[in-house]
Amino acid sequence: NTPFDFTEFRRHFPALNQDAAQTLCYLDSAATALTPQTVIDATVNYYQNAGATVHRSQHKAAQSLTLAYEQARQQVADFIHAPRVEDIVWTRGTTESINLVAQSYLRPRLQPGDEIIVSQAEHHANLVPWLMLAAQCQAKVVTLPLNADFLPDISALPALLNSRTRLLAIGQMSNVTGGQPDLATAIALCHANGTPVMVDGAQGVVHGETDVQALDADFYAFSGHKLYGPTGIGVLYGKSERLESMQPWHGGGKMLTHTDMQRFTPQQAPHRFEAGTPNIAGVLGLGSAVQWLSTLDRIAAERYSAQLADNAEKALSAVPGFRSFRRSGSSLLAFDIAGVHHSDIIALLAEKGVALRAGQHCAQPLTEALGVSGSLRASFAPYNTQQDVERLVDGVRFALELLAD
Ligand code: PMP
Repeated sequence: NTPFDFTEFRRHFPALNQDAAQTLCYLDSAATALTPQTVIDATVNYYQNAGATVHRSQHKAAQSLTLAYEQARQQVADFIHAPRVEDIVWTRGTTESINLVAQSYLRPRLQPGDEIIVSQAEHHANLVPWLMLAAQCQAKVVTLPLNADFLPDISALPALLNSRTRLLAIGQMSNVTGGQPDLATAIALCHANGTPVMVDGAQGVVHGETDVQALDADFYAFSGHKLYGPTGIGVLYGKSERLESMQPWHGGGKMLTHTDMQRFTPQQAPHRFEAGTPNIAGVLGLGSAVQWLSTLDRIAAERYSAQLADNAEKALSAVPGFRSFRRSGSSLLAFDIAGVHHSDIIALLAEKGVALRAGQHCAQPLTEALGVSGSLRASFAPYNTQQDVERLVDGVRFALELLAD
C-alpha cells in the first residue's frame, strides 16, 4: 500500500477539480460519494468500446466482456474476503439486497407468529422490507432497542431471542451517528440460538476493512455508490449454504437452466438471483472502485476523515445550542442547533455552496429516539479538507446570524 496522501486522493475526483466546481464543498458522501476517474473510465469504456452484453452472445467481444464482468465479481469477493466468488450476488444496491433476502430467503421459512428482530438504529432499507414481510406472513417485527449511546443494545438481545426468532437485521454502522454496534457478540448470540443475521453494510463497508468470514454474517449487503462506485449497482454476500437453499425472487432470462410451459429449473447461485440483462457498466465500475481502494491505506484515509469531523465538531461546539449526535471516531457528524429548524439552516448552507443533508436520513425511529425532528449531517470523506470544515462552520454561523435577525 502507498502511504495515504489526501491531496493525491482528491486529484482522482473530477468533480473537485473542474474550474467551475472549485468552490464545491461536498459534505454528503454518506448519501453518495463522488466518483473517481478510474470508475468513470471503466463505465465510459464499456459504453464506448464494448459493443456487447454478458453471459449470452457467443461473439468475441461478448466473451471477453463476460470474463471482465466475472472478474469484477472476484474483485468484490476479495475486497470483503468472501470465501467463494459464487457468494457474491449483483443487485441494484443495499435496498434490493435486503429485499432479496426478505423475499427469497425468509419468506418461505416464515410462519404466522414467527419473529424478526430489527434494531431501532436501522436505515429504512433494513426495516421496511421486514415490516412488509411480516405483514405478508402474519409474523412479528421485534425491536432491538437502543442503549444510552443510541447504539443497538446488544445486551438486550438474549432476552429477545427465542425459538420463534427467524432473523436479526442490524447495521454495521449507523448512517446518522456513525456508531458501530458490537456485531461479533450479536452474531454469536444469534447463532447460538440458530438465528441467521442480515448485516446492512452500506456505511460500514466504506469506513473500515470488512471481512465477512471473520464477521460470520449470514448475509451482508452494500451499495456501489457510497463506495466510490456507480449508482444502481450493489452487492449481496451470502454464505454459500444459505444462497444455495434460496429460491429465485425475480424470474427471467439467464437465471435458469431449463424451462417448459409448466416449470423451470433455476441456475446455481449467484446466477439464479440475477434475472435479466444486468447493469454491466455498474459492475465494471464497482470492480474498478474496489480495486482502486485496495491500493490505498484505507485506515489512514479513515483516520484523516474522522479528524476533519472532529475538527468540525470542536469548532461548532462554540455555537450556542449546538448538539452533536456523533459517535466519537466517526467521520459522520450529525448535529442540530437548539431552537433553529434544520431545514432553515440547510437552505442557507446550500446558498453558500456547502452540500450536506438535513432531515431524518431515512432513519425515522433512530431520529425520534434522539429526541429531534431531524438533524444536519456533514459526512467527511478523504477528499475533504480543513477548508471544507471552515466553510461548514462559517456557513452555520452565517445561517444563524441571518435567522436571528
Ligand atoms: N443502509 C444504510 C445504513 C444507508 O446509509 C443507506 C443509504 N443511505 C442504505 C441502507 C440504502 O442504500 P441504497 O439506497 O444505496 O440502496
